[in-house]
Amino acid sequence: MSRNPDFDVIVVGGGPSGATAANDLALAGHKVMLLDKAGRIKPCGGAVPPRLLEDFAIPQSLLVAHAKSARIIAPSNNTVTMPVGDGFVGMVDREHFDEWLRARATQNGARRVTGMVEQVLDDPDGTATVVYRADRGSGVRTATARCVIGADGARSRVAEQCIPGGGRVKCVFAYHEVVAVPDDITGDYDPTRCDVYYQGHLSPDFYAWIFPHGKTASIGLGSANKGFPLRETTRLMREQIGLTQWKTLRKEGAPIPLKPLKRWDNGRNVLVAGDAAGVVAPSSGEGIYYAMTAGRMAATAATAFLASGNPAALKGARKAFMKAHGRVFWILGMMQYFWYSSDKRRERFVKMCADPDVQRLTWEAYMNKELVRREPRAHMKIFLKDLGHLFGLKTVHG
Ligand SMILES: Cc1cc2nc3c(=O)[nH]c(=O)nc-3n(C[C@H](O)[C@H](O)[C@H](O)COP(=O)(O)OP(=O)(O)OC[C@H]3O[C@@H](n4cnc5c(N)ncnc54)[C@H](O)[C@@H]3O)c2cc1C
Repeated sequence: MSRNPDFDVIVVGGGPSGATAANDLALAGHKVMLLDKAGRIKPCGGAVPPRLLEDFAIPQSLLVAHAKSARIIAPSNNTVTMPVGDGFVGMVDREHFDEWLRARATQNGARRVTGMVEQVLDDPDGTATVVYRADRGSGVRTATARCVIGADGARSRVAEQCIPGGGRVKCVFAYHEVVAVPDDITGDYDPTRCDVYYQGHLSPDFYAWIFPHGKTASIGLGSANKGFPLRETTRLMREQIGLTQWKTLRKEGAPIPLKPLKRWDNGRNVLVAGDAAGVVAPSSGEGIYYAMTAGRMAATAATAFLASGNPAALKGARKAFMKAHGRVFWILGMMQYFWYSSDKRRERFVKMCADPDVQRLTWEAYMNKELVRREPRAHMKIFLKDLGHLFGLKTVHG
């Protein structure tokens, strides 16, 4: 490397993934720039597992609600309530959560810059030049670094330009309306419960939800079917559940990628993480925990690259992620493919979730982010029940 770049690492995108990567890199003593396009609250249901608070030292004060159960609703309107037990599902408001993460990274030494990346140039000496605009209409600026981490979301400019197969990945399109919860709650709403609708008319291939956020709630749905009328169906859903009168504060949507990219690096000096790398769990659409985990793994891989100068070190991020979560992603992908494909199957899926073993293992896997290996008998029982349901051979109580 013949010249001194401005930074060791430029992280593009200050969502959960980029802010985590920037924070870890700054704490490791690297010179870091965090470049983020300001001005938009990320559309998101905001549900996070307790493990996220532990792994990333997130204070409880950032949670706006604790959900103590999930209620799933079948096409027939049959419901199954799944109490979380001792745990909870945490709810964050992305406006404050993301800003807190960015502020922490800055406090720990990352240089925060507001701007939108336009291009990442790969200079012959191995330096990466990031070309960005401070805001629309302003002139272009540049900054150089030994490594760039693209954490700029599902439609990542960095992935599109630098990573083979990046940028235009298969997505579920998700839309939600943020509503004000009135003081005198009427109707079938519980501020400590997440409602998940598995009904083909609300989503032909994913699900619809109501998530409590204290004084507000997120009502939304997703589908990979590009022609599916997300807004109109959300309106119908609010009619169906009697929540049309609640004041709508925001209406917004965004794509959710559902498959990790085959490559996360360009073999030289660029790496992607979070939604830019496609790491959202199929079936659930859970992406915040995985984005932060991938951001951390990208920071570790970048640190190894900076120390060794060997671009092969960048591969460590994907390798570590797939080792930890690849199996769960595969299973969730199969579940989505099978159980979300018709109302008949959705009905059976909801029935299956009434099983206490299914509930316990589901929550344990969600809370701890690992498959519970110590209970082979329970897994076998569920596997056999699963097969029974798959072929319509038995009822849930059988
Ligand atoms: C409607 C909806 C509901 C969801 N609900 C949940 C949920 O309940 N729980 C859950 O875990 N996950 C949920 N997800 C998924 C979750 O929001 C994402 O997986 C997560 O935000 C990914 O984090 P990230 O940091 O990778 O990307 P993002 O959060 O998308 O952050 C990307 C950042 O990059 C910035 N950026 C973008 N382009 C540029 C550019 N050109 N230059 C500079 N900066 C740029 C953006 O401003 C943003 O700050 C939901 C998603 C949607 C759309």
